[in-house]
Amino acid sequence: MLYIGCHLSSSKGFLAMGKQAYDIGANTFQFFTRNPRGGAAKSVDPDDISAFLDFSKEHNFGKIVAHAPYTLNACAADENIRRFARETFADDLKRMDMLPGNYYNFHPGSHVKQGVEKGIELIVDTLDSVLREDLKTTVLLETMAGKGSEIGRTFEEIREIIDRVKMPEKLGVCLDTCHIFDGGYDIVNSLDGVVEEFDRVIGLDRLKAVHLNDSMNVLGSHKDRHQKLGEGNIGADALMAVVNHPAFDSLPFNLETPNDIEGYKAEIAFVKEHYKQ
Ligand code: FE
Ligand code: FE
Ligand code: ZN
Repeated sequence: MLYIGCHLSSSKGFLAMGKQAYDIGANTFQFFTRNPRGGAAKSVDPDDISAFLDFSKEHNFGKIVAHAPYTLNACAADENIRRFARETFADDLKRMDMLPGNYYNFHPGSHVKQGVEKGIELIVDTLDSVLREDLKTTVLLETMAGKGSEIGRTFEEIREIIDRVKMPEKLGVCLDTCHIFDGGYDIVNSLDGVVEEFDRVIGLDRLKAVHLNDSMNVLGSHKDRHQKLGEGNIGADALMAVVNHPAFDSLPFNLETPNDIEGYKAEIAFVKEHYKQ
């Protein structure tokens, strides 16, 4: 089963996102829980949520992905920034309880000058303070390009975070194709090898979602600049090999490519056309 969608603006609510996704041929989507640069979240309208749940069921949508704001840094050196991360994280997860069974994706964080070990320790502390037994959402750690001092550039770093939290059963991984390519994982020449490595280090059972992006930069560049499908250094063939790989079967794929809505519509059509089932 193919679940394909893209990042959508959440400004008009959930039903509007569902309808927009449907209109462009999508059956999943991703959205920011609030302004990506931070700030207050909009209040959630229960009627909008229930209308969306009906609509997404009627149109056989897959799981949707909420994305935390970029300003959320769970391993900042400044305690005030970490407090903002905990409060935002907890508040977002509370809202997500209204959409049970979906995903909340976040960037593990940037340790700045504290070092990877300290960064991982602070991320684990943040997760331990926001994960709870009755959580209805799976929290996804996104694989990162390793720009600056980003944590999550290797599968081992992600694994260490999962191993050390008190409730690892609440965690999964979102694999971003641009990020892992920029991080040095050669999905162009060795997709099977990368999948095997992911399985060996993290475990494929943790893989819950994919960000389907081409990259403006080269393998191992640690840059993180997304490109349209087929216009970057990963290329359409390698990206479609990801979509068609059995390890990725039935995962929600979301495009975060530099596109307007018409561009997304065309890319979704392209992916569907090249999906072999
Ligand atoms: Fe992201
Ligand atoms: Fe991403
Ligand atoms: Zn990115």
